[in-house]
Amino acid sequence: MTAVDRRSFFALAAGAAACSQPQRQAAAPVIDFHQHTNYRGRSDDALAAHQRAMGVSRTVLLPAGSRYGLAADARGNDSVAALSGRYPQEFVYFANELPDIAETRQVLEKYLQSGARGIGEQKFPVECDSAAMQLVYSIARDFDVPVLLHFQHEAYNLGIERFHEMLEKFPGVTFIGHAQTWWGNIDAAHDQAVMYPQTPVTPGGVTDRLLSDYPNVYGDLSAGSGLNSMLRDEEHAREFLARHQDRLVWASDCNDSAANGPDCIGGKSQAAVRRLAPDDAAVRKILHDNAARLLKLSA
Ligand SMILES: [Zn+2]
Ligand SMILES: [Zn+2]
Repeated sequence: MTAVDRRSFFALAAGAAACSQPQRQAAAPVIDFHQHTNYRGRSDDALAAHQRAMGVSRTVLLPAGSRYGLAADARGNDSVAALSGRYPQEFVYFANELPDIAETRQVLEKYLQSGARGIGEQKFPVECDSAAMQLVYSIARDFDVPVLLHFQHEAYNLGIERFHEMLEKFPGVTFIGHAQTWWGNIDAAHDQAVMYPQTPVTPGGVTDRLLSDYPNVYGDLSAGSGLNSMLRDEEHAREFLARHQDRLVWASDCNDSAANGPDCIGGKSQAAVRRLAPDDAAVRKILHDNAARLLKLSA
């Protein structure tokens, strides 16, 4: 046997041995970057069961501030800290508070000091570059944590066309954008009044450019808005997921209890990412690795 033959022989033998082993590949880990406690009244037990059924290994819980409930009856900082305390391997949490009240700094700092891994979701009726929001960004900078924002035209975090100024002013802060106005603006031809556009996408919208031009911004693919951004134009979505595969995090933000059923946005969007991302490596980045990096989780 020549050296080459010997190598081939052992390679074949090793391959045969590997093939005879039962397939024991563990399911790849999945992080859901966007969930809420008491979402439209859903219990903690139902939420935990929903996440497991959706194949999620770790979930980011985003609390409400002391008012408004994020327009979803979501509960606040103590609620998410308590559920994370019950299941520390399955749930991590962010800190949150209204940006423009006297208690903003004290509340955010209290929960960041006791284990919150970010701030959000910030879903309050302010300009995204207001003094109030800049206070939130400065606290994120001081604690070296990301901020997650809900952009919704004429409702929350107004002025997305000026958001790049914040990315420049706070280069050390990582920003994560989500919701109707974030995802509508992948389209250069976006009509700001339309929340769930159904038309084909013209690349180069505000969001597309922010993700291309600034290293400190990510997109959270949760909710009907994230799902719609992929399904409205799948040909565009394939290119978008390929182009921004290092800056997208999959997330559900769904409030159903059953998981993976017809009402489960998270199940549908996870399937869309698996179908439309260019390869297995990109799927893994979007479903896990990018989120793990933002959360500073060790593998
Ligand atoms: Zn939101
Ligand atoms: Zn669901």
